[in-house]
Amino acid sequence: MCEFSTLSYFYFMEQQENFIAIKNNYGFLKHPNENKFEKWAKTQHFSLIELFPTIHKTAICPLDVSINSTWIGGEEEFNNLPFFEEKIEKLQAENPDKIIAGGYLEKRALYTSSLFVRKINDEFDRRNTHLGIDFWLPKNTPIHAIIEGEVVCASVDLEHKGYGGLVILKHTLENFHFYSLYGHLSVKSALKNVIGDVIKKGEKIAELGDANENGDWVPHLHFQIMLTLLEYQNDFPGVAFESEIEFWKNVCPNPNLLFKLEGLSSKNSAF
Ligand SMILES: [Zn+2]
Repeated sequence: MCEFSTLSYFYFMEQQENFIAIKNNYGFLKHPNENKFEKWAKTQHFSLIELFPTIHKTAICPLDVSINSTWIGGEEEFNNLPFFEEKIEKLQAENPDKIIAGGYLEKRALYTSSLFVRKINDEFDRRNTHLGIDFWLPKNTPIHAIIEGEVVCASVDLEHKGYGGLVILKHTLENFHFYSLYGHLSVKSALKNVIGDVIKKGEKIAELGDANENGDWVPHLHFQIMLTLLEYQNDFPGVAFESEIEFWKNVCPNPNLLFKLEGLSSKNSAF
């Protein structure tokens, strides 16, 4: 999807849904539900125990895998699965009471596969800015619904560095709706969900997959919030082009607005 179609489609969507468009300083139309989501999230108190009931941890061990990270050397190291897995396991052993997590709006050097590259005027442009929060947890960790939601996507993306098993829920509140995305799930548990099913608060959504079925990653949950699905049906970008970040960070608010955990603040964010 090129930049032009992204922005023009968003405008189209706004018209279709009869939203009152607000033009902000960046020259694009801000999603009017941004304020509604933020206002609603302020009144909510979600715990990571609701998302991962079998983990029994709420504290965060923040992990910086940005381009400035001293913890991870470079893309060669990050894409060396056994090496990265060993580093995560060591960090986990050193922080047994914490969940290793982070990454909202983190600019990363690790997205090297062709999935993350486009060419404009003979120049390569890379998607490198992470739109969700990653929680590094063991394979088969159950993921539960922190709020009731309707299944709008239950699919599998088996491309190298894709999502693997993927589920997206739609949450309908009094005066707006938003979506939550769960990536890198086991294929079987993701596909057990049926479009239109309603998952009640507290019910299981799926389980984390391992590298064989999660897109070749060290097991982790990619958790993302979206205010609109744009034109996507069985997919949604989890990483954005830096040049479009003002648009994407508006469409994908910080998931930590739900959890309000200090360890998940975007101190590593380049934006
Ligand atoms: Zn992620």
